[in-house]
Amino acid sequence: MQKLIIANWKMNGTVQDAIKWIAELQKRLDSILPSEVVVAPPFTALYSAQVILQETPFKLAGQNMHWESTGAFTGEVSPLFLKEAGCQYVILGHSERRSIFGETDEGINKKIITAMTLDLIPIFCIGETEMERQEGQMGFILENQIRKGLKGLHIHDISDLVIAYEPIWAIGTGLTATPSQIEETHGYIRNFLEKFYDAPMARKIRILYGGSVNENNAGVILKIKNVDGLLVGGASLDAQKFAKIVKSG
Ligand code: PEP
Repeated sequence: MQKLIIANWKMNGTVQDAIKWIAELQKRLDSILPSEVVVAPPFTALYSAQVILQETPFKLAGQNMHWESTGAFTGEVSPLFLKEAGCQYVILGHSERRSIFGETDEGINKKIITAMTLDLIPIFCIGETEMERQEGQMGFILENQIRKGLKGLHIHDISDLVIAYEPIWAIGTGLTATPSQIEETHGYIRNFLEKFYDAPMARKIRILYGGSVNENNAGVILKIKNVDGLLVGGASLDAQKFAKIVKSG
């Protein structure tokens, strides 16, 4: 399966930054990419990015959305707006959304259902805290997030789904999970999906790793069994570094 590498800019990057970044990335990568490459700039840069991305193999993602398509939800962004701005993907349930903005598994489930209905592919983020890992709770936490986040969805609906495993203690901290921790956890998630759903279909779900990925560790992580790609935060802001990450696939 082709690897999927996603740049999550978080709340960084103006329209001008996005234009420059895309041009820089294009310069550094061949038109035939080893991996599928997706960029998630802030909402305000999506439309301008789409205009330039049309000439490139890169794709676009939103960083969040509301579960309703229209209505009295001041300040929210509809999935229809994301589609209009050219997004094929949307990041949902990022740990920063959960911990800073109080997003719940139930709300994330509603968003995943809406996204799938509207043909936006969710990049569904899950992950445990450092304490949960130390207390041996990791398996329970991840299973619980998956069960609740995917409640009501049939395996045939979710074979396109992307799961991003992002240990919370590794996000933006410079502390990458070790290859053996990543292999163990991705194996655990894959096994759970195969048991919970139909096994051949569950094998189609892409499981990405995220958490302090950079141009030096990406190559090793991408070779780990059951790692189908990367969700990259901080290191994705620099087009030169991100290009190196893509090339290591
Ligand atoms: C993220 O924001 O999804 C992320 C993994 O961030 P970082 O790469 O900076 O740890």
